[in-house]
Amino acid sequence: MIDLAVLEGSSFVVLGLARSGLATVRALKAAGIECVAWDDNAASREAAAQAGARVTDPATIDWAGITALVISPGIPSTLPVPHPVAVAARAAGKPIICDVELLARAQPEAIFVAITGTNGKSTTTALIGHILQQAGLRCQVGGNIGRGALDLDPLGKGGLYVLELSSYQLELLQTFRANVAVWLNITPDHIDRHGDLAGYVAAKKNIFARQRAGDCAVIGVEDEPSREVERQIAARPGIACIPVALDRPVANGISYRAGLLVDADGYTVDFSDVLTLPGDHNAQNAACAWAVCRWLDVPRETIVAGMKTYAGLPHRQERVAAVGNIVYINDSKATNADATARALSSYDDIYWILGGQAKEGGVAPLASYFDRIRHAFLIGEATELFAGQLEGNLPFSRCGDLQSALDAAHAMAQREAKGPAVVLLSPACASWDQWKSYEHRGDAFRAMARALPGAEILGRAA
Ligand code: ADP
Repeated sequence: MIDLAVLEGSSFVVLGLARSGLATVRALKAAGIECVAWDDNAASREAAAQAGARVTDPATIDWAGITALVISPGIPSTLPVPHPVAVAARAAGKPIICDVELLARAQPEAIFVAITGTNGKSTTTALIGHILQQAGLRCQVGGNIGRGALDLDPLGKGGLYVLELSSYQLELLQTFRANVAVWLNITPDHIDRHGDLAGYVAAKKNIFARQRAGDCAVIGVEDEPSREVERQIAARPGIACIPVALDRPVANGISYRAGLLVDADGYTVDFSDVLTLPGDHNAQNAACAWAVCRWLDVPRETIVAGMKTYAGLPHRQERVAAVGNIVYINDSKATNADATARALSSYDDIYWILGGQAKEGGVAPLASYFDRIRHAFLIGEATELFAGQLEGNLPFSRCGDLQSALDAAHAMAQREAKGPAVVLLSPACASWDQWKSYEHRGDAFRAMARALPGAEILGRAA
């Protein structure tokens, strides 16, 4: 847990008592710092009270003595409708911050590596953390992934914090400075919270705020807003700006395509045998991780070795089992067509399980991948919508639920696949029609695939 003694004499309101909020309350309490905690959910309030928090109705708070509001990034403080406690804090002229800001204040001599982007944040963060740990460096990984910022261990001078930061967290930072900032990509997302694409980009650009000469910015340049950001950061004096581009050389940057990256000095890494990093999208993540680790002076061989032992994250093209030539892949995190496109682009012979709660556009944007798909197995609420979109384009079956879909896909793949093939759960849908979450759906798929007759277990045991 982070020691917050540096904040002595301050007093905080903590709003939102899930993972990061609870960690904040615990760290403040351990340092003997005044805090009032609140969550609109009674069960969360109860959990916080049991952890020793002083839970008080925020309507009764006298803001005069409060230093700042520490808000959970999931709670709106501006759009679409600000939480009443945020409104009260603002009316009293109090700053609204998040736990990462407190971490930065408590660990002023540590080195901060911050990662953002619309897609690939968790993968890139986990990969960088893994490589730095393999390199024997003192490092902690957290933020929007894994442990909350204040749950991490104190590292002090020269220690490395590798933090995944969402746009919601980034807009709640005031003094936090990223020594190394990674910007992967941007596509429209979370517009309800940011008003429009410009608002979303502006929130994310906070990752570069307060960077100064000697700091590093690694920027993926595969979309126009990201190219514009790269132009702006490259113009700032003293910041080493490293562009990362798909399949073309860029000055002082890194070029990548699936399984391969080429550094500015021509050094080439072939990681096509790393099964946990398939596709161009993961090559973007790997190239950004490479740039960060090189900047931190990790030897090339150590980075390559780290990439080769990267275990991957659950639910993201996770190889869970094999039966003969057929590999079973859990991509339950793919809750929209864009994410599913990444998985479909990574394999040649696919028995595809999809469905759930459909997103706008359904699977129409995926038509260019249909020639890789041998058969589609439909589940959940989206069945009739997808059947209509696939009719005449792809052979498909209506399977109802995941177990039936897996059984049907398994039987067909085992019967007819001529060579290596995959049974891929990449639903392009939310999970809530049949599951509690995408994790719940993916965990079930993993267990079902591993229970198939003759299944060899792949990947981590989880
Ligand atoms: P995030 O933390 O930003 O949600 P993840 O690393 O968890 O990202 O990956 C989520 C999904 O996003 C993956 O399953 C994959 O479909 C897609 N993805 C991963 N990396 C990238 C990337 N660099 N560009 C585009 N899509 C990506």
